Amino acid sequence: MSRSRLVSDKKNTYHILTYGCQMNERDTESLTGFLRQMGYREAAPDEAGILLINTCCVRESAERKILGKLGELRKYKLARPETVIGIGGCMVQQPGMGERIRKEYPYVDIVFGTHNLHQLPRMIEQCQFGQVVEVWDSEGEVVEDLPERKVEGIKAHVTIMYGCNNFCSYCIVPHVRGRERSRNPEDVVKEVHSLVGQGVKEVTLLGQNVNSYGKDLQPPVTFADLLRIVNGIDGLKRIRFTTSHPKDFDLALIEAMAESDKVCEHIHLPVQAGSNRILTAMNRGYTREHYMEMISRIREAMPQVALTTDIIVGFPGETEEDFADTLDLVEKVRYDNAFTFLYSKRSGTPAAELAEQVDADTKKARFQRLLQLQNGISLEHNKAHIGTLHEVLVEGRSKTNKELMTGRTRGNKIVVFAGDEHQAGETVCVRIDEARTWTLLGTLVPQNGQPQ
Ligand code: SF4
Repeated sequence: MSRSRLVSDKKNTYHILTYGCQMNERDTESLTGFLRQMGYREAAPDEAGILLINTCCVRESAERKILGKLGELRKYKLARPETVIGIGGCMVQQPGMGERIRKEYPYVDIVFGTHNLHQLPRMIEQCQFGQVVEVWDSEGEVVEDLPERKVEGIKAHVTIMYGCNNFCSYCIVPHVRGRERSRNPEDVVKEVHSLVGQGVKEVTLLGQNVNSYGKDLQPPVTFADLLRIVNGIDGLKRIRFTTSHPKDFDLALIEAMAESDKVCEHIHLPVQAGSNRILTAMNRGYTREHYMEMISRIREAMPQVALTTDIIVGFPGETEEDFADTLDLVEKVRYDNAFTFLYSKRSGTPAAELAEQVDADTKKARFQRLLQLQNGISLEHNKAHIGTLHEVLVEGRSKTNKELMTGRTRGNKIVVFAGDEHQAGETVCVRIDEARTWTLLGTLVPQNGQPQ
């Protein structure tokens, strides 16, 4: 192959490195869509003509890692000066960051924020004439004319809203993703239809606070309304959603969940702390009592519901008594699973300025106690499923044992069983034989069995 052919092949290829949450993964899908529409195809980093980093800044450690990675990309530019290097997303959206990258990383061609990623094609054209640094301060309208998504597999995330209005005192998200903007239900439905047409069986509706979906629409639509609408889409088997905020989680939503057969009985309801004093310092907008009341209502309406949560350990000022309140709440709620985090300072947030930071050893010791407690409860929950039947949506071969198939229950528990590759995308009935902390092992039973 001639040298000129090789160069032109590379020119038409891209590679994207993504850091952070599901929202960022979804943004990367949009960036991918634009690049494919422009005729680019994916390649390894050392082969790619365009190298993009989609960044996260929720933790300062992530930021350091990303800037280190950006430094590493210089070698590709040195080897092939025609390579286009771009960086965008949450980290870039922070005040002064675009300018810092422009000065300290002059070989970077494109710098963009979270609000203007839809302008990537234009920025790629423009960077041929010099560095493009464009970070919009405000969010603007929801952009709907994105390229149609191409997905593989049976599950997909669908963004229903952008931004957050809550300003929890430890969180940078509202500062980099802007205020809440909901997509119109018609656009959400159109996207889900397209995904179902590509073989998707399960969608997860995504937003920083899905419970306040639609408050900004005219006429207003509630999240409960949206669930009912999406529930009516033919060919779709399951609906999940994340993330919920306890202050906005209401009885109307519980009702809509209970009566919508495709909405899975799993709620991720981040509590973050069990002490009212700490919840106030976090600016979470609810009390422990309100949270516990909501849990009781949920369990009354859906006794089989699986509950998961997020908890931050070692928030500034957290005393041993506050932490005991968190352990006590975990004992009382008995979550199926909890995602536990050590508090880490995030500059630009009010909590980072608080004087009473908890020392690292105390944080780690508390974290271990919480983990031990929750792991015991998770195993107990899983053991209670032994002998019961579950509807499992089959995802494919197990990653750890290629002889076996894997899928999830409606409660989002991973089940591994002996099955057939052709069952991928189907719902099957599985009897649970063995329980581990994170996984259930089971046996297929004939479809006339009655799953839970
Ligand atoms: S609800 Fe709180 S933690 Fe969640 S994104 Fe908004 S500000 Fe951050």
